[in-house]
Amino acid sequence: MQCTSAPPSPPHTPSSQSGSVQPPSSASSSSSDSAPATAVAPNPATPPASGTVSASASSTSLGPRYRLATQVVTLESSLKDPYNPASTPIYQTATFKQTSADAHGEYDYTRSGNPTRTALEKHVAKLCGAHRAFAVSSGMSALDVITRLVRTGQEIVAGTDIYGGTNRLLKFLEGQGIHTKHVDTTDLAQVAEALGTNTRLVLLETPTNPLIRVADIAGVVRLTRERAPNALVVVDNTMMSPYLQRPLELGVDIEYHSGTKYLCGHHDLMAGVIAVSSPKVADDVYFIINASGCGLAPFDCWLLLRGIKTLGVRMEKQQQNAHRVAQFLESTGLRVHYPGLASFPQKALHDSQSTGAGAVLSFETGSTETSQLIVEACKLFSISVSFGCVNSLISMPCRMSHASIPAHVRKERALPEDLIRLCIGIEDAEDLVEDLHQALVVAKVAAPVL
Ligand SMILES: *Cc1c(COP(=O)(O)O)cnc(C)c1O
Repeated sequence: MQCTSAPPSPPHTPSSQSGSVQPPSSASSSSSDSAPATAVAPNPATPPASGTVSASASSTSLGPRYRLATQVVTLESSLKDPYNPASTPIYQTATFKQTSADAHGEYDYTRSGNPTRTALEKHVAKLCGAHRAFAVSSGMSALDVITRLVRTGQEIVAGTDIYGGTNRLLKFLEGQGIHTKHVDTTDLAQVAEALGTNTRLVLLETPTNPLIRVADIAGVVRLTRERAPNALVVVDNTMMSPYLQRPLELGVDIEYHSGTKYLCGHHDLMAGVIAVSSPKVADDVYFIINASGCGLAPFDCWLLLRGIKTLGVRMEKQQQNAHRVAQFLESTGLRVHYPGLASFPQKALHDSQSTGAGAVLSFETGSTETSQLIVEACKLFSISVSFGCVNSLISMPCRMSHASIPAHVRKERALPEDLIRLCIGIEDAEDLVEDLHQALVVAKVAAPVL
């Protein structure tokens, strides 16, 4: 289908910038797989980072900038559709007809590019303040693409408290001659020690999961530029989402997400996104995605785009509930890890690089048996891996999401076996507190009267 009428520019978008169509990069234009025009203009200014900030939208020469809660629902798509649909259509097609044997339009084959995927990628790039963003089939697929930037013999520096699947993929890469140095990335001295000219990637999660420890993003970027000039700093920003933390603005080269979590928000989709700050990295990442065929399918792109529109309201509510739950648990004398608590040891650092504490917290009970009793006595919290869903979830990471990390390694990395992780949803906070309270009573951790 060839749609020819140009879309109207959104009122706040100067047509010369955000909606502009740039020529495909050289990496892709040389093949028959054309690159869709997904490059977006970098953010002209740092906007207020969340809806809670009360500064008024400023008007620059590039047009007004909106707060993130507005940005998430405002699509600046350059989709050429004659009917001006309010919702981005699903282009459920593998191929696009060419205009002649040797010329084709913006798209020719969905592995290489699809209009629904382009709309999603432009939207994500805007939210992350990225030069360009990409949508792939899962969070692990995003990391797989990123690690293909590493050559045999080069090294990766990564944390010790990391997502189980990340640990598994890095372990697999050892067999390909790519070594990972695991250090405590929340300790700059350990990061400095691990960096060298052979380092290709520095991989951060912050706050870490499930221990909720904070890495100094700008500090790691600075050290990396000094000591490892060939390295790219990569942040797995899944825990915070671009609504609460924007690592590219702190100098990071690549930010990626499991879109399965907060971006989607409903646990009904697997997806990953990669947002990059430079054209060179964008070309390399696009090449790998097109070569390996992991681009997100059109229907899934549409679902993710729909999920992202409510990211702001979900995050605000989930975070508010998480504060209430964390305060309740702390009041019972339990050891709670949550960046929103005044007792959180790295609160100042977290607040300096994020605009909120998020909705994932963990706590220790002192015994795995007690923890198991609590987890199994909860009625409202589902026992489930993952997070970012509108429903509240409870888990024991050492038995579930992090079980793929061998027990002795978990011990070395000081991951407490009794740790309980809570991922807070959008329910009424008082119901969540009451459910946890009755579970603590069952486990004889709390008195029956609140
Ligand atoms: C879930 C998750 C991943 C992996 O994403 P999938 O979409 O499950 O492949 C990576 N990093 C973090 C922090 C995650 O929570």
